[in-house]
Amino acid sequence: MRILILGGGFAGLEAAIKLKKYKYEVTLISDRDYMFIYPVSIWIPVGKRSFEDTQLKLSDLAKRHDFKVIIDKITKIEAQKNVIHTATKSFEFDYLFIALGMGKYPIPGLEFTHSICGKPEESTIIKKKIENLIAKGSGHITVGFGGNPKDPTATTVRGGPAFELLFNISVMLKEKGLQDKFKLTFYAPMAEPGKRMGNTAFTKMDSFFKRYKVHTHFGKSIKEFTQNAILFADDILMNTDLNLFISGGDGLKIIKESDLPQNETGFIEINEMCRVEGHKNIYAIGDAAAIIDHPWAAKQGHVAEVMADIATYNFNNKIKHKGKRKSYWEKLHIICVMDSGDGAAFVMRTAKKEIIIPLPIVGHWLKKAWGWYYKKSKMKRMFRIPGM
Ligand SMILES: Cc1cc2nc3c(=O)[nH]c(=O)nc-3n(C[C@H](O)[C@H](O)[C@H](O)COP(=O)(O)OP(=O)(O)OC[C@H]3O[C@@H](n4cnc5c(N)ncnc54)[C@H](O)[C@@H]3O)c2cc1C
Repeated sequence: MRILILGGGFAGLEAAIKLKKYKYEVTLISDRDYMFIYPVSIWIPVGKRSFEDTQLKLSDLAKRHDFKVIIDKITKIEAQKNVIHTATKSFEFDYLFIALGMGKYPIPGLEFTHSICGKPEESTIIKKKIENLIAKGSGHITVGFGGNPKDPTATTVRGGPAFELLFNISVMLKEKGLQDKFKLTFYAPMAEPGKRMGNTAFTKMDSFFKRYKVHTHFGKSIKEFTQNAILFADDILMNTDLNLFISGGDGLKIIKESDLPQNETGFIEINEMCRVEGHKNIYAIGDAAAIIDHPWAAKQGHVAEVMADIATYNFNNKIKHKGKRKSYWEKLHIICVMDSGDGAAFVMRTAKKEIIIPLPIVGHWLKKAWGWYYKKSKMKRMFRIPGM
């Protein structure tokens, strides 16, 4: 049986590990030779973590879990024909798991901004730019995030990393005795940025902004970015020396150009069993898949892993002619430890509940410990705690 997994991020890797546990032969194709641990990449720009330490080599993972890995760029997906094409060859499949992540919602001048949520290497560019500003001695650093008007689940999930980066920069400047020399501004087009984490979390944000000496500018949509400024819809021009902006999520070009069923954003339409609508042998998991009927939900790493778990379980039961199927909806919730460099807040949101628990100092070390645990457990050097 030819089983292909496209993408080696949270979803693709988890699918490969689970399918191997069910004793299937799998081939994973990724254009990067490493799995990037995005949640802890927020410390790269402030020099608290190295780029190399934020990766797991796919070849090491493949050896450890005994799956096959191919490093190549996927260029075309022909779902009806059961074939995918890469830069170098074509692969036919019997079953396909698509875990390619998502793209960025376009805004004019986006190329003048830098994003912690873009290509992994961008984190090192941001680090260099911050170092240059520090060498200069002063500056205005702006940090913002945007949405996707067509899909709320692809919107403010990346608000968490924006806040984390912002507060970490503030703490770093304070540690260097430079807080008074720099201005930090947080901006967002929505009137209530951060509300996706829940009302309680949102109302607490004000105290965070005060504590970390952050100016704010909300509720004005962004017309365009230029080399050194942000132009808002009310024609206010905000000058900036370093503009760190996380755009809303968008479907990838390769998905938009494929014959896969997709919503108007370009996310793949799946049922609650993670199977692609209209295809008995294709599953889509992680950021690439459209989350429907749960507009409060958000695309997150742990949701990607839950989807991989559910998709592979349902696939295995189908092959083994077992009747039981599971739904990822039952496990859908927002969960994050929002780090600030000197502490953190635990945020959880489900359809019914909203929780925020401040974790001064210890929260920062908890998140660091998670990064360590994630690497060890994925390499089978430590027992895996379900859901972590
Ligand atoms: C800075 C940051 C902090 C975050 N913090 C948290 C957090 O604290 N908690 C949390 O739960 N989530 C967090 N997230 C979200 C989480 O990282 C994503 O939801 C998760 O990475 C999605 O996993 P994925 O496998 O769907 O996509 P990705 O991890 O993006 O993986 C996609 C994979 O597909 C590959 N690929 C893409 N296109 C091609 C192609 N054409 N050919 C071949 N390969 C291709 C990529 O190389 C990659 O291997 C954070 C995200 C960011 C950016």
